[in-house]
Amino acid sequence: MFEGLSERLSGIFDALTQRGALNEEDVDIALREVRRALLEADVSLDVVRSFVDKVRNRALGSNVVRSVTPGQMVVKIVNDVMIETLGKTVEPIDLDAAPPVGIMMVGLQGAGKTTTTAKIAKRLTDRFKRKVLMASLDVKRPAAQEQLAVLGKQINVATLPIIAGQTPVQIAQRAEQAARLQGFDVVLLDTAGRTHIDEALMAEMAEIKAASSPHEILLVVDSLTGQDAVNLAKNFDDRVGITGIVLTRIDGDGRGGAALSMRAVTGKPIKLIGTGEKIDALEDFYPDRIANRILG
Ligand code: GDP
Repeated sequence: MFEGLSERLSGIFDALTQRGALNEEDVDIALREVRRALLEADVSLDVVRSFVDKVRNRALGSNVVRSVTPGQMVVKIVNDVMIETLGKTVEPIDLDAAPPVGIMMVGLQGAGKTTTTAKIAKRLTDRFKRKVLMASLDVKRPAAQEQLAVLGKQINVATLPIIAGQTPVQIAQRAEQAARLQGFDVVLLDTAGRTHIDEALMAEMAEIKAASSPHEILLVVDSLTGQDAVNLAKNFDDRVGITGIVLTRIDGDGRGGAALSMRAVTGKPIKLIGTGEKIDALEDFYPDRIANRILG
């Protein structure tokens, strides 16, 4: 196993004579380790740079209090900056709007969008006692619509009946109308994905957004895609405008760097994490837990 960053930093400072204030040279030696640890955790280069600058400024501007060693002081500053970057608190899905509250799920094919849609539907039903309607807007892959219907049956959540030949915008409008008439609290729109970002996909997302004015637009991203995930988040946010991120496959990602990069680049909160294939494998995103994972 790698030695965690916290231990490494403490080690560096222990090797130096302990002084009352952090001097520039010591801090720069420590920051080399911080930089390396962040890059190992797959944080993107730009984010690493601004992160390290922030820690450096703060470290040089601070006096080491008597009760801690310089190493512990730097570890604390790194930890503070990490939590500030990731967001301090859990940010739940915002349901504070007139029902039916629209939640539009976007992302690439295979990211876990349909599974996550069902996971969220189940969570809103079980934990928040909401009446939820799910609709698949993937008209290119009829199997995707079937998949959502099957999941809906499994978890006992209603899905919009499939009508062949409708456009995604028509389905979105029909879902909202049905929800209104039948007294649903929340409508989850599972949009189509592609294998990569293209103009047609972005145009389709923008059109659905304009037609249905969703209260939340959640980008579902596979945490294992690392740097690509960051570019993807930036693209979706610039073109469609997202309100939050769901990171899937955290169960297979020991590094956690994608979370830090995406949050830093988009400024949008990571609201939930997918921790497995099962329908209840969905958890709130705790910034401090990911910080610990990155810092070790
Ligand atoms: P979509 O194309 O984006 O709708 O992706 P799907 O929802 O069909 O998911 C693709 C695959 O990823 C399925 O086999 C899911 O079970 C799996 N999956 C989704 N979320 C997670 C997760 O958080 N962890 C793991 N291990 N697998 C996941």
